[in-house]
Amino acid sequence: MNKENIVILGGGIAGMTAASKLLQLGYTPILVEESDHLGGHVAEWHKLFPDMTPAQEIVQRLAEEVSAANIFLSTRVLFINRLNDIYIVMLDNGVSIQAQAVLIATGFQLFDAAKKEEYGYGIYNQVMTNRDLERWFTTGEDPRLDGRDIRKVGFVHCVGSRDIKAGNSQCSKVCCVTAIKQAIEMKEKYPDAQIWCFYMDLRLFGKKYEDFYINAQRDYGIHFIRGRVSEVSEAIDGRVIVKAEDTLSGKPVKVTLDLLVLMSGMICNARINPIASSLGVDVDSDGFLRSKDNISNIVSSGRKGLFFAGACTGTKTVPETIAEAHAAALDIHLYLQSGK
Ligand SMILES: Cc1cc2nc3c(=O)[nH]c(=O)nc-3n(C[C@H](O)[C@H](O)[C@H](O)COP(=O)(O)OP(=O)(O)OC[C@H]3O[C@@H](n4cnc5c(N)ncnc54)[C@H](O)[C@@H]3O)c2cc1C
Ligand code: SF4
Repeated sequence: MNKENIVILGGGIAGMTAASKLLQLGYTPILVEESDHLGGHVAEWHKLFPDMTPAQEIVQRLAEEVSAANIFLSTRVLFINRLNDIYIVMLDNGVSIQAQAVLIATGFQLFDAAKKEEYGYGIYNQVMTNRDLERWFTTGEDPRLDGRDIRKVGFVHCVGSRDIKAGNSQCSKVCCVTAIKQAIEMKEKYPDAQIWCFYMDLRLFGKKYEDFYINAQRDYGIHFIRGRVSEVSEAIDGRVIVKAEDTLSGKPVKVTLDLLVLMSGMICNARINPIASSLGVDVDSDGFLRSKDNISNIVSSGRKGLFFAGACTGTKTVPETIAEAHAAALDIHLYLQSGK
């Protein structure tokens, strides 16, 4: 059994995967999670693209794998000091831990769609976010859908992403394929519904994503309209009226929908930045934590004993997050063995 203390900040997929690997390597990591459950954002999702794997399968498997770790739930890290090569991690429950290595796995936040007032989130009843829709897929409860006959649904891409006015010019990377995933799930629930995706460009970079898009059109009849939504308003019967320009046909589009879903983007979790900056870590132009080297060493902070994994350094998919967490666990092990 290795005796060194390793503190992992964040019990999402990144933190849990790293904890699982460290347990296999003979360590007993200390996992600190500020919410009351493990799994991070993935615990909120229903099925994962592109294979439609139930998200709970991944979360539950990891939860079993990390059960031997020291886990603090509903616990925040107040600050971390570094003295020589030892980190002193102060938790808000009064516990102070001396650690030889720290892994930051604090993930991302979802853009607050209410900031894009023009789309009507929080103003019009029948407007929801991608997160709300995932919750409904999982729980079956949402007043916007309960007992309603859903015949027409729209998805708006790039909400709070690639949008300088919203303070974020970066592409969130996962929301084009998430929109396709959600559109397919809606179509499976409401086979007679008509579904439109309003996009600027489709960014489908990952393995099997293009097939997913082709299937969405061919097998599910989902319509893809290239053009920004210019106006959203509420009809007298409570449905939402969406106006856009189809830039491929050059024609304006106006549809009245039973539901409009806003694809809020992944943005940085800025709440970790003061702790990171006190340890000498910078942030990138997109606000995410800066790795030592984005090509060959994304899990290294460049500070001795301090590592990163997952969406704290940028938008990531689940497979990318898991692969990084494996790499981070191995790097921590090598660091503790060699002291370098
Ligand atoms: C709508 C949507 C759908 C998605 N669907 C898919 C999909 O189908 N397939 C796929 O591959 N990817 C999907 N993703 C991406 C996926 O959610 C991310 O890859 C994954 O959540 C990254 O995991 P993480 O552990 O790095 O971060 P997170 O999931 O954000 O977890 C971070 C954890 O750290 C905790 N935390 C934060 N700060 C602190 C702190 N200071 N102290 C203690 N704990 C802290 C948080 O509470 C959270 O539990 C989707 C993303 C979005 C937005
Ligand atoms: S992944 Fe698609 S929806 Fe998301 S920001 Fe990039 S282009 Fe927009």
